[in-house]
Amino acid sequence: MTEPVSDQQPLSRQKEAEFKVLRRFVEVYCRKHHGAARGEMCADCAELLAYGLARLVKCPYDPKPSCKNCPVHCYRPDMRRRMREVMRFSGRYMIKHGRLDWVVRYFSRPSKPRR
Ligand SMILES: [Zn+2]
Repeated sequence: MTEPVSDQQPLSRQKEAEFKVLRRFVEVYCRKHHGAARGEMCADCAELLAYGLARLVKCPYDPKPSCKNCPVHCYRPDMRRRMREVMRFSGRYMIKHGRLDWVVRYFSRPSKPRR
């Protein structure tokens, strides 16, 4: 498994957990859109994930709020758009494939179910 995260400072447990979910989402998206093999991703998606990780590392909040509820919105607009697309696609994909646990882990806040 390639680890894009080698020279980073250690993340808090919560951020590390969040990064794992993030990586999972990007992997699914890349596999379905760019034909990446399991556990791999294309350069674009790797860039997006690395960007997400950098934001996570820099996030001043500990514990970190759900990005949706965060007042800072630290993502660059284009990256934000791409990440939102990934989240939307992979979120649906995981629900369809019974991996609701991953979705819940990422959007862990009380909200009424929507479709
Ligand atoms: Zn990709």
